[in-house]
Amino acid sequence: MATTGSMIKELKEYARVNDVPIMQDEGIDFLTTFIVKHQITHVLEIGTAIGYSAIMMALASPNVKIVSIERDEERYLEAVKNVKKFGLEDRISLLFKDALEVKLSEKFDLIFLDGAKGQNINFFEYFERNLDDHGFFITDNIEFHGYVSKDEEEIKSRNLRALVRKIKNYIEFLQTNPNYNTTFVSKGDGIAVTEKKEIG
Ligand code: SAM
Repeated sequence: MATTGSMIKELKEYARVNDVPIMQDEGIDFLTTFIVKHQITHVLEIGTAIGYSAIMMALASPNVKIVSIERDEERYLEAVKNVKKFGLEDRISLLFKDALEVKLSEKFDLIFLDGAKGQNINFFEYFERNLDDHGFFITDNIEFHGYVSKDEEEIKSRNLRALVRKIKNYIEFLQTNPNYNTTFVSKGDGIAVTEKKEIG
């Protein structure tokens, strides 16, 4: 019988062979440790891909429930298969939709932004209403493979330059947001942890 460890390895191998971007090991370690440390119970994830990070978050704590959104049908269907394989259907709900078209009334104590990197401000503003008063946003790929710290002229591709500019705008948006405090963690591909400021 396959062990959890061997099934996780298989997921990662599928992602590698099929060019599916999933969270790096260091990032996953940070995220799962964070979930345990802060006793997170209700996670919203933007960008399921094949379900790897959702499964890892659910495995980190038996108290965690996750809603995860994916707009790519092939990846969504693969995620449905994977969540079933791990027997986590009761704790991971998968939605096949563009995140910005999903309307949720629930509140979450962690909103994990791992969708299109140029859309983070839109995701943040759209899902702010779903964040619990003591909740966190966590955003992955803040360093974007080292490109965010490079001079623009060093980046040859125009599309990549535009994307990096959007990530920099998001960083500034977080740093100057009067309602939140953000810590930047240089783990994996760079992670931002954003917390609501206490009022009063
Ligand atoms: N969180 C996954 C993991 O670590 O296992 C990886 C997610 S991958 C980096 C980003 C995913 O977000 C892609 O599969 C992409 O199709 C999806 N995505 C991008 N923009 C989206 C949107 N607006 N709504 C829903 N899904 C989106």
